[in-house]
Amino acid sequence: MKRRRIAVLGSTGSIGAQTLEVARAHPERLEIVALAANRGAPTLIAQAREFGVHTVALADPDAAAQARAELPDAQVLEGASGLSELALATGADLVVGAVSGIAGLASVLTALQHGIDVALANKEPLVAAGEIVTQAAGRSGATIIPLDSEISAIFQCLRGEDRRTIEKVLLTASGGPFARLNKQELAQVTPEQALSHPTWKMGPKVTIDSATLANKGFEVFELKWLFGLRFEQIEVVVHHQSIIHSMVQFHDGSMIAQMGAPDMRVPIQYGLLYPERVANDLPCVVLAEIGQLTFERPDVGRFPSLRLAFEAGKSGRSYPAVLNGANESAVQLFLEGRIGFTDIPALAERALEAHEPFDISSIDDVAQADTWARRFVAHEVRDGSVR
Ligand code: MG
Repeated sequence: MKRRRIAVLGSTGSIGAQTLEVARAHPERLEIVALAANRGAPTLIAQAREFGVHTVALADPDAAAQARAELPDAQVLEGASGLSELALATGADLVVGAVSGIAGLASVLTALQHGIDVALANKEPLVAAGEIVTQAAGRSGATIIPLDSEISAIFQCLRGEDRRTIEKVLLTASGGPFARLNKQELAQVTPEQALSHPTWKMGPKVTIDSATLANKGFEVFELKWLFGLRFEQIEVVVHHQSIIHSMVQFHDGSMIAQMGAPDMRVPIQYGLLYPERVANDLPCVVLAEIGQLTFERPDVGRFPSLRLAFEAGKSGRSYPAVLNGANESAVQLFLEGRIGFTDIPALAERALEAHEPFDISSIDDVAQADTWARRFVAHEVRDGSVR
């Protein structure tokens, strides 16, 4: 059987590492042909050696120089454009989009424009440029396969279903590590506390987004664009056990849920080997040991990021790109210890309020909205304190 040739963009991150774990478990089915990362040369060099990869890209020039020195037989691409060129250079069948943040947009878009299927973990391109990304796939005939556990759940629930029969989608949320904290306690949360998520092991950006529920808001955009839903059809439900990864309610009253252990390798394997289900050694969930599955409505009073996502999404135009850019820069400032945890959504909300919206018809428009939002946040946090 022909192996699927895979290019991994963001190979040194958490999703990238788990993608390689899945590839390691299925060497007869999956071949890693290209690896890309922002920096993190030592990890990428080790990965390239292990998988015999001869084409790599590093956005950071110093990291690229190091890779050239240590991988003399490899083609080493460089810069932001290196990531976009990489997927095309290797003739990959599937590109894994696992770069963190809006930095992943150009490479994902390039792959889709050239008709290459993308297994997508990187949410920000769909938040900031959902229409552009999905239209590019529609034009070239490329498929976007979600790797995010909740979005994969919906993708699986909808197999063989007529999408016109969807009443609504129930997007489950673990609630994050601070589900029980009040507003005052939330304001005191430190980066160290926020970086220890109870259920999922992830990179810093998505971990903070999970704690603020901005991540859940971004999943709303993923659902909207990947399944052609209206924002009104998407409902978030807090489910602390993270066993049900999301569900669809159909217009005949039936609900279909996808369940399993909270282990990212399951949806990653499903995405890499789609449409096949292949046996593996991953842990299964024993429901009798779990005992109860609970469901609650989210508290958007304490977690305004979720409300902001719906508001920006319904307003459309440049608002989603501004939300994304403001959130991304606020998360960075929080990780640097310069602002508080609750300042993250507060700054995003101020950016949305101050923004003069415009239409988004190109990737340049997205960049313009993103830059505006980052400048706005930087200005608000000048002198090391939030104005
Ligand atoms: Mg998720």
